[in-house]
Amino acid sequence: MTESSFDAHHPPARDLLDDCVHCGFCLPTCPTYQLWGEEMDSPRGRIYLMDLAERGEIELQGAFTEHIDACLGCMACVTSCPSGVQYDRLLEATRPQIERNVPRTRSDRLFRNGIFALFPYRRRLRAAAVLGLAYQKLGLARLAERVLPPRLRATQALMPPVRLRTAFATLPRRVRPDGEVRRRVAMLSGCVQDVFFHEVNEATQRVLAAEGCEVLTPREQGCCGALGLHAGREEHAVVHAKRTIETFERLPVDDVVVNVAGCGSSMKEYVHLLADDPDWAERARAFSAKVRDVSEVLAALEPRAPRHPVEARVAYHDACHLGHAQGVRDEPRTVLCTIPGLEIADLPEAELCCGSAGIYNMVQPEPAAELGERKARNIRSVSPDLLVTANPGCLLQIGRYLGDDIRMLHPVQLLDASIRGERLP
Ligand code: SF4
Ligand code: SF4
Repeated sequence: MTESSFDAHHPPARDLLDDCVHCGFCLPTCPTYQLWGEEMDSPRGRIYLMDLAERGEIELQGAFTEHIDACLGCMACVTSCPSGVQYDRLLEATRPQIERNVPRTRSDRLFRNGIFALFPYRRRLRAAAVLGLAYQKLGLARLAERVLPPRLRATQALMPPVRLRTAFATLPRRVRPDGEVRRRVAMLSGCVQDVFFHEVNEATQRVLAAEGCEVLTPREQGCCGALGLHAGREEHAVVHAKRTIETFERLPVDDVVVNVAGCGSSMKEYVHLLADDPDWAERARAFSAKVRDVSEVLAALEPRAPRHPVEARVAYHDACHLGHAQGVRDEPRTVLCTIPGLEIADLPEAELCCGSAGIYNMVQPEPAAELGERKARNIRSVSPDLLVTANPGCLLQIGRYLGDDIRMLHPVQLLDASIRGERLP
């Protein structure tokens, strides 16, 4: 028998590979198949490649890595597969194999290392925010558009407007509700979220408290490891997962609340990431079982805070790591429907990724741009006043292609404005 091309550390499982019956139902929902019509850039094709590599019939270098790298990890195929193929587990087993066993070009390695040296660290992001503010004030973005190579050009174009006041602000450690405490929750404040979307965290604390939750937000928390987990950097993901569990498990709470789709999905996956570590498996299981998207917590509570009307037509974009990866689709809509006056518009091609996908829009800027433009066209087609989505990556990616005339918010910001009776942020 030929030896597998994968190493022995968690290769894609044979029984999971065999679950695929090659029916092709997943193809229409796969963004890369939509773009290129190429079988090996479809879920079925990628599973076939994994199958061949597992049998030792193809090597990991070259075409195999290119087709796996081109996958967004959006998990639309998991949603659409009638046979229940766990492509998420297969991809999460395959990507670390590539990171360990396939040498990347020097420039690719440097670029990826740069991303992982910056994004998971709040202090470094704050320093970057200062530089970014100077960069924006000096109007260097237009110059950068002309001179930078594609990946750096795409990365700088995603930078949101920097506000130093919020970039350096800290959240209160404890927020108590007025009246009876209905739930005790701990909140992940995140990395990019806390520096560039701090106001979303503030709104999340206020909304949870208004609905009767006591909210603990430990300052000692760091990155949850989502970017590393989804990019195949297993060591990075494990280190950050353990730190996150240690920080939160000692808190006497009912739920660990997350307002970032990508972070929530990775924290629910710790149970798999640490499954064969005898010291951590049970702790990871207990932790993952408590993780909830903020919309899951709010949808389960009978609304307590009065809402003021918001007369607006809202396009709701399902972030892939919320809809496809966590199966959380109804809860954000349920929560938004509690706001009087709000009209929610469904998007055409709602299942298609916007091209953000963790670090994808930085490392694969061309397909990400095509998907971003397509998502922006679909949003415009329903003529909304607002675009609402629960992931900072989607907000940055879609914002780049949607322009300034359609306002973009996280769902809790909209609910916060309704509860407070204030103008939309
Ligand atoms: S992943 Fe599922 S939907 Fe896609 S080809 Fe395999 S069995 Fe069919
Ligand atoms: S995760 Fe997304 S891009 Fe990758 S194969 Fe599945 S549908 Fe296609």
